[in-house]
Amino acid sequence: MFEFVDIEATSYCNAKCPFCNRQFMDFEQKHLDIEIIKKLPFERIKKVLLLGNKGDAIFYNKLHELVQHIVSNYTSKIILHTNASAHDIDWWIELAKTFGNRGYIVYALDGLEDTHRLHRIGTDWNKVVRNVTAFNNAGGYSICQFIKFKNNEHQIDDVRRLIKSIGSKKIWIRKSRDYNDVLLRPDGVKTRHELGEDLKNHRIECTFLESPSFVLTVDGEIRPCCFMADDDYKRNFSIHLKEDIKYPQHIIAYRKDPNSINLKYHPFDAIMKSDYYEAIKHNYNHLFRCNQKCKVTFNDIIDEEFYG
Ligand code: SF4
Ligand code: SF4
Repeated sequence: MFEFVDIEATSYCNAKCPFCNRQFMDFEQKHLDIEIIKKLPFERIKKVLLLGNKGDAIFYNKLHELVQHIVSNYTSKIILHTNASAHDIDWWIELAKTFGNRGYIVYALDGLEDTHRLHRIGTDWNKVVRNVTAFNNAGGYSICQFIKFKNNEHQIDDVRRLIKSIGSKKIWIRKSRDYNDVLLRPDGVKTRHELGEDLKNHRIECTFLESPSFVLTVDGEIRPCCFMADDDYKRNFSIHLKEDIKYPQHIIAYRKDPNSINLKYHPFDAIMKSDYYEAIKHNYNHLFRCNQKCKVTFNDIIDEEFYG
């Protein structure tokens, strides 16, 4: 049984968040064919995350159909991550109804109107609040994700009050993956990367093997995790290759036949038994990316708060 799959159903988004993968690489804007997604073994997957590295699932052209397919045929929970700054109220009411009690949304609200727009460039704070209110009022369950900067940390209590008043159930306050001249670092806060540097001898917690879980990219590839699926990984491939020189079997397997991990061309179980996955399973402890990313856990970068 898999704990979760993270599906990158689309690479479309209306925002320009400065640290998003979207900003670092040219890529094609496209949707993943729903028939490819339907090939996943949902009967063996507890949670379906509609997240990905470079798109917002609310722009997926078959979103309602996909949610309906999972709700009607399987027992998996659905968790949709979004900036919530698009579509009209009716669209959000319909989404809440399609979800029923089988799913929830995690929406980005990084402060009040004046600070949210510094990070969520291109989104409309008022529209986010309006859409989430409609979703909640229609019976939807929502969690607010607040990324903390020096610019917005004084507004945490205001946001807490606001989201409670519109019916959201929980808030996640988390560290940013980076900071810049506009989005300033709160005192004493370290990024995931920096925390990882401090934890040189710490055990690697591999979510792919320990959760277990995997990612389906918009290209149809099955990747072990978001860190091995993002464009930063692809961009810095030569660095990884240099560092992984003693254990490059996964790179060789991938380069030899990139389609060997693609759900468009192979069944899911065959992909999991491919040379690429055998190499990852045996070598992850030694791989540069795994050492760089997975000494830090989700709990190290997030403070979760419940409202009940
Ligand atoms: S909303 Fe999400 S996908 Fe869109 S730019 Fe921001 S981080 Fe990237
Ligand atoms: S980066 Fe490596 S250790 Fe981390 S989840 Fe992915 S495969 Fe596992």
